[in-house]
Amino acid sequence: MLDTLRELTSLESPSLEKAPADHCCEFLADLWLQRGATVGIVKNEKRGNLLRVVWNPPAAQPRAQLFVLGHYDTVYPTGTLAKMPFRLDGGKAYGPGTFDMKGGIVQALFALDAIRELHLAAQKRIVFLWTSDEEIGSATSRKLLEEEAQRSEAVFVLEPSLGPRGLLKTSRKGVGEARLIVRGRPSHAGLAPEKGINAIHELAAQITRIEKWNNPRGGVSINADVVTGGSRTNVIAERAEATLDLRAWKETDMRALEKRLYALKPVHRGAKLDIRGGFDRPPLEPKHSAALFARAKSIARTLGFSLGEAAAGGGSDGNFTAALGVPTLDGLGAVGDGAHATHEHVVVDAMPQRAALLASLLTSC
Ligand SMILES: [Zn+2]
Repeated sequence: MLDTLRELTSLESPSLEKAPADHCCEFLADLWLQRGATVGIVKNEKRGNLLRVVWNPPAAQPRAQLFVLGHYDTVYPTGTLAKMPFRLDGGKAYGPGTFDMKGGIVQALFALDAIRELHLAAQKRIVFLWTSDEEIGSATSRKLLEEEAQRSEAVFVLEPSLGPRGLLKTSRKGVGEARLIVRGRPSHAGLAPEKGINAIHELAAQITRIEKWNNPRGGVSINADVVTGGSRTNVIAERAEATLDLRAWKETDMRALEKRLYALKPVHRGAKLDIRGGFDRPPLEPKHSAALFARAKSIARTLGFSLGEAAAGGGSDGNFTAALGVPTLDGLGAVGDGAHATHEHVVVDAMPQRAALLASLLTSC
């Protein structure tokens, strides 16, 4: 498993660089081919190609399908390996993308090995999909992964687990991004200030209003995280814009927040508001994952470890599949820490354990 992880990590696969990503995709395709799976590379014009792998149990013609979902892209640009090489230290394997989520892909490969070599009683077709743009919002893979989810009885997402105990993610916040664009009227700040409408002042007033919608206890958050506006100090600002990060645990809260946002009215006379965007990943709510988690928990017990669950503030592609009503269990990937950070690593001893958990889930569902 470590050799595979080392090789996979050495093939840098940034979401925004197609050529190296495609190269990594081809390497992965070979690994699945070697395991007797049917492999299809789905061409992607802008981002790395997608890898769809189908494994049919040798026994009867399967009537149902299970779906294993993950991404091979990372947030690290080419060249990161030079500063952050793959290395083993104290039972941990460090390197860019090890935890999020190449370790998870390796676990899936070895889960299939276990199913094949131990002749575990798989009843259903297993489709694995490895996407290339999860870290940038999944614009070019969303359709395909949603179609695959709709054909499936359950979705297993190999995103990293949470914390040192490797908790599974049984709920995830819905996540969105909106733009609040203000148009005012420019004027000389000294000669004719009364003729201007200050877009920055208007935006500031709106942000003060929006800030009050935050409800930390209910898990609703709205934050202006990027603002731009104005041209120079003696000109009353004609335009200002804020990019807002939106998050909520519940779909009803998500809709309510969007509705409030789109209902904003200008504070300053003559200012114009233009609101765009909104939630793009709906929440993964516990009702989508509860049954699968209960099964995973009891399997873990028979494998000799206890499995916990947690809620995650960030979204993943599991949000999309859950929103379709397909049972989804997320966080089944590596145990480790430091996603998107210089100390990113996986806990080596947990890799075979999590692979065994996935193999058992895929043969008992
Ligand atoms: Zn990820």
